Amino acid sequence: MQDDTALYGAKMMQPVMTPADNEENNLRPQHLEDYIGQEKAKQNLKIYLEAAKRRGEPVDHILLYGPPGLGKTTLAGIIANEMGVQIRITSGPAIEKPGDLAALLTNLQEGDVLFIDEIHRLSRQVEEVLYPALEDYALDIMIGKGPSAQSIRINLPRFTLVGATTRAGQITGPLRDRFGVLLKLELYSPDELSRIIMRSAGILDQPITPEGAYELAKCSRGTPRVANRFLKRIRDFATVLGDGIIDRDVALLGLKRMDVDALGLDELDRSLLRAIIEMYNGGPVGLETLAAALGEEAVTLEDLCEPYLMQMGFLTRTPRGRCATRLAYEHLGMKAPETGSAEENGQQSLF
Ligand code: ADP
Repeated sequence: MQDDTALYGAKMMQPVMTPADNEENNLRPQHLEDYIGQEKAKQNLKIYLEAAKRRGEPVDHILLYGPPGLGKTTLAGIIANEMGVQIRITSGPAIEKPGDLAALLTNLQEGDVLFIDEIHRLSRQVEEVLYPALEDYALDIMIGKGPSAQSIRINLPRFTLVGATTRAGQITGPLRDRFGVLLKLELYSPDELSRIIMRSAGILDQPITPEGAYELAKCSRGTPRVANRFLKRIRDFATVLGDGIIDRDVALLGLKRMDVDALGLDELDRSLLRAIIEMYNGGPVGLETLAAALGEEAVTLEDLCEPYLMQMGFLTRTPRGRCATRLAYEHLGMKAPETGSAEENGQQSLF
């Protein structure tokens, strides 16, 4: 395997790379053919990349959206790799002033990919500098102040912006409209996650049985980052408590020891559901109220817990707040209300 720390490490524009980042980078596929799942997004992307290559142009600006850990950063790296260009990695909150963005843009080379993670967190002033850069590959800079101020235009190399966000809804209309390609990443199926785990185990030189991989995959909440994290932790259990091989038994033992249940819910997911049921009678309850009750940030619940709980049918979002479903009661071994409160809170159709 080619060493991709060069690709993701040296050019990483965030200040510090931790060992965990490095390990994550080693597991990232570098070519579209090694990127497992997301077939729809992948097939279309393949066409866009091929067409741009044939025309000898950089590929159009791409917005990737979906919950954390689904492979947005990985895909940005693959886009650069497939186009044979460099990638510069940064994030919305890291670009504090228009000057920071100008410095990034003027250092790009023809065709480069600029990856901005959490792009919904760019400030309004920075966004405004980005618009002409995206549309005309130009920067408009004001020199001086007051009546003598002058605007000068600097031409930029043609580049591709790849933006990633967990919140497509929070991106302003003008910014969204400047992306030529919008790709939504979906949660992965257990089969796809199994393949990701087998691939990662190969890279880590960790023996694993297909049954062991499948047990981890089923509990990975549709997310490759979680799957890879489980693989690394269960490797520890296999090394210390087993014979070094991850089989079904070691996988089940490790998951139990980590408080992950059979459907992949962890302690936070269960506390969230329990809070809705026990404190708010099954809902609806507003996200902020719920976050305060659990002592967590609303974004953590919204980004990390909710997509999977909704996919599993344990949680619904209504205009009046979050509701636990009958399945959630059953999963937690709690008795669901007969009709009364469910009817009152608008969940009748769920029960
Ligand atoms: P995001 O940027 O969406 O938060 P990342 O791109 O950082 O997610 O992916 C997290 C981890 O999951 C990476 O280490 C990568 O190895 C792995 N991964 C993500 N998507 C895939 C995929 N489709 N195939 C294989 N591994 C993947």
